[in-house]
This record gives sequence, structure tokens and C-alpha cells, in this order.
Amino acid sequence: MADIESYDQFIDGEFVPSDGAERADVEFPYNGETWASVPLGTATDVDRAVDAARDAFERDDWAGLHPSERASLLRDVATVIDDHADELAELETRQNGKLIREMNGQMNSLGDWFRYYASQCETREGDTIPVESKDGEMFNYVVEEPYGVVGAITPWNSPLLLTTFKLAPALAAGCTFVHKPSTQTPVSALRLADLLHEEAGLPAGVYNVVTGGGSTVGDALVNHDGVDKASFTGSTGVGRHIGKSAGENLIPASLELGGKSPNIVFDDANLDNAINGVIKGIFAATGQTCLAGSRVFVHEDIADEFVERLTERARDIDLGDPRDPETEMGPVAFRDQWETDREYIQTALKEGATLRFGGHQPDDLPGECFLEPTILTDVENDMTVAQEEIFGPVASVLTFDDTDTLIERANDTDFGLAAGIWTEDFRKAHRVADALEAGTIWINEYRTLTYNSPFGGYKDSGLGRENGHEGLEEYLQTKSVWVDLAGEVDDPFTLG
Ligand code: NAD
Repeated sequence: MADIESYDQFIDGEFVPSDGAERADVEFPYNGETWASVPLGTATDVDRAVDAARDAFERDDWAGLHPSERASLLRDVATVIDDHADELAELETRQNGKLIREMNGQMNSLGDWFRYYASQCETREGDTIPVESKDGEMFNYVVEEPYGVVGAITPWNSPLLLTTFKLAPALAAGCTFVHKPSTQTPVSALRLADLLHEEAGLPAGVYNVVTGGGSTVGDALVNHDGVDKASFTGSTGVGRHIGKSAGENLIPASLELGGKSPNIVFDDANLDNAINGVIKGIFAATGQTCLAGSRVFVHEDIADEFVERLTERARDIDLGDPRDPETEMGPVAFRDQWETDREYIQTALKEGATLRFGGHQPDDLPGECFLEPTILTDVENDMTVAQEEIFGPVASVLTFDDTDTLIERANDTDFGLAAGIWTEDFRKAHRVADALEAGTIWINEYRTLTYNSPFGGYKDSGLGRENGHEGLEEYLQTKSVWVDLAGEVDDPFTLG
């Protein structure tokens, strides 16, 4: 067995032992081997991290920097991440079993987020408002200021990418950051914090990482008096809980939550592209993505041919070791998630769906987390499998014949994260895009995103937006300043 790498918490610019003695193992899901261990932190660890972040926020070496100086540090952060992209990609794959080829792509793109927000940081300016008060004898200007200390909580499926969606704009805004990564994937965040302070020169306390459980460390973080802004990515259930805590403490919360996205194939679609797009939507990343196109709506005139070809393509998917760049689908990230996926498949069959392909653990692969790409047909939109997020490689195929009813059914879900539309008719594509209730819509593509296009959910898929200038605004509050130019204050009893 390989040596186990043992980590401490990262607080105030250095690794420090946790206040608690309990620890959590980190396993490689491909073979179940334990390779790292991190502290299961405590509320005291959170106190220390929030104090460090508060101190860093109040010193003049971060929020107080001129935006161009902060931008320069963010560009250094980008370079350090670029230089360590291979190492970070390997950590990500060892934590959650995601393909090294995808993780390499993600890690090589993280620097772009920091460079983009560096440019936002130095080019954003305030406003002057032409107020009519006192016959125009008032000058009003608006400035933006950082909220302060951000408490961020992230999931396990794309750990550093989803952290970057928060960290890059929060730092650009001048906020400082306390991060609780997922218990399954804590190591890459600890290493990132180390790199950003040791090599990129972030001042101590700007980015702190406290590892541990959701109901202990996560709860202590969002309920901490010293936290000014909560930023969460994860399931809708936990997001609702965090939203309630934020409401109780009257702090703003950005919530990036689950999805049950429709991927719609019309009868005039380019079928080669649509099949690849459906595979991309639900089998890439082993279906463990918030924007998974898990409800595949296919026009009934092409449904038989489409399902036949989708099944053939799914049969060819190369499952295996995620460290091998040729592998197309790795394991599910951990056994509990594998069991959840299997339970959903069983429920679907009980409710009347047909298992067209997959659904089982292949017997020629190691560990206990592999699941074949799974295709269910005869799915109705009110079945559990079409309404609840599975977060696994399970495609539910539904058929349609009329566009208006299709739109009603596509929108008939609590979620509204994303949707795909496959058609060669651009008028129809735009009409349908307009009618769908989702924060991201792809026409003849699926699962693309980048730093300068906003991302977030309608309905129960979230509150707020990440990426783009909207992503920065989540970490800024505005201050309106009024200056009298008239030189006299007359009637004190009216609002004016
Ligand atoms: P999860 O909600 O179980 O956990 C997310 C994080 O919250 C983890 O760090 C966890 O430890 C923490 N947590 C759990 N209980 C908590 C509590 N009571 N208080 C504070 N923190 C708590 O989600 P997951 O299983 O890690 O990730 C999968 C989910 O994330 C899916 O629903 C997926 O759709 C969603 N997700 C959304 C996006 C998006 O951008 N919209 C992106 C990726 C994943």
C-alpha cells in the first residue's frame, strides 16, 4: 500500500494542526485505496480561520490594495496554478476518480478565471447618478465595496473548478475567504491554499481551508458571526438549509444547486451531433455533474433510431482507470453514491421504465464503484427518475410529438439549471430557448462553460450567478454617497 499523505488545516497562511483529533481518509475510487488523511475539523478551527480572514480583510495588504496591485497578485496566482496544473489534476483524479483528461483540461483553465477577474478588478469603476434632489444641487456617487469575509462550501464533483468560480471573483472584489471543501475531496483545496500563499504571495489569512463534515464545520461556518457572505455549491436540500441560516444571520448567500436538465432532440436534428451531445450530457464525468442532461426528450418520429444508436454508442464507451488518458468513463466517486444510483434505477423499473442498457457493475473492473452507462426508456415525466437528481450515469429517455407540450413537460420540474436543444431549425431553437426555464441553454451543444459567461440556476437550482461580471457582483455591496452642493439645509421635516 502507498504511503498515506497526512494534511493539517490551512489557516492564516500556514498548515496548522486541527483543534480536534478525528480524521477522515481520502480514497482513490478506482481501487478503493486510501492515500491521504485530513482533519475532521471543529467549530474552533472555524473560529481561527474566520479570525484570520477577518484580520486579513482589515489589514491594508488585501482589501486595501489598489485594484491594479490586487490584479497583479491575481495574475501571479494564475501563473502558479498554470505551473502546477498537472499536479493539481492528479490530486483531483485521485480524490473523486474523474478522468485525468478532463481534470487536466479543468486545471489548465483555472488560471483564466483569475486573469479574467484580475482585469475586472482593475477596470471596474463607480457611477455618478444625476439626482434631482434640491434642484440638482446634490452630487451623488456610488462605489462598490467588498462584503468582507466569505464562507464558502463546495461539493466533490469538480472541486477546484467550482472553488475557483467563487474564489477568483471574491478575491478580485477584495474579500477574504474561508473554505470548507467536501469531505470526499479536501486535499486539492489544501494544496491550492499552500501554493497561493507560498508561491503566488497571497498575504496570510486571505484564503483559509478548514476540512471536515458538513453538519459540523460547514454549519459552524455559515452560522459564524464573523462571516459576511455565504457562497455554496451543492445539493438543493443542503442549499435550502444554508439559505435559511443565511436568512437568520441576515447575510447574503449565493447558492449553486442541483439540476434535472432536459436535453431535447428534435426530428430535424443532426443525429451524429445529437448523440454525442446526449452522451456528453449524461455519461461524461460519469453523470456526476450538476448540469447533467439527465432527461433526454426525443421526438417520437426518430425515437427508435435514436435510442438504437445511443445504445450502440454507450456500449462502446471505454470504462476504466481514470488516470489513463484513453479512458472515457471512470468510476462513481464513492460507494454511497453508487448505491444511490442503483436505487434510482430499481425505482425506475418498479415505476414502469425499461432498462434498455447498463445498470450494473461491470465484473472486469476493480473496486466497488463502477456503474455501466445506463439508458432507461418508457420514462414518464412524473416518475421519480425524471423528477429527482440522480447524479450518476443514468439517462432517462422520454418521447414527444408536439413542441408546446414538450416545453410544458421540460419545464415541469422543480429544477432549472440547464437545457440542451438539438435542431437544424434556428427559429424553432430560439423559440424553445426562450420558453425553457433554465439558467443555461445550449443550442446544438452541451456542457460548455467558461469564465466570462454567467452560470446559475432558475427555480430550485439556485440563487445568484457565478462567472462573468455577475460573478463579481456577488461579492460586492454598493454604497451611495450624497454631497450637498447648495450650501444650505432648509426644511428639516420633508424627505428630499
Ligand atoms: P452536498 O449538498 O451533499 O454537499 C455539498 C457541501 O455541503 C459539502 O462540502 C458538504 O460537506 C456540505 N454540507 C453538507 N451538509 C451541510 C450542512 N448541514 N451545513 C453546511 N454544509 C453542509 O452535495 P454533494 O453531494 O457534495 O454534491 C453534489 C450536489 O452538488 C448535486 O446536487 C449537484 O447538482 C450539486 N452541484 C451543483 C453545482 C452548480 O454549480 N449548480 C455544481 C456542482 C454540483
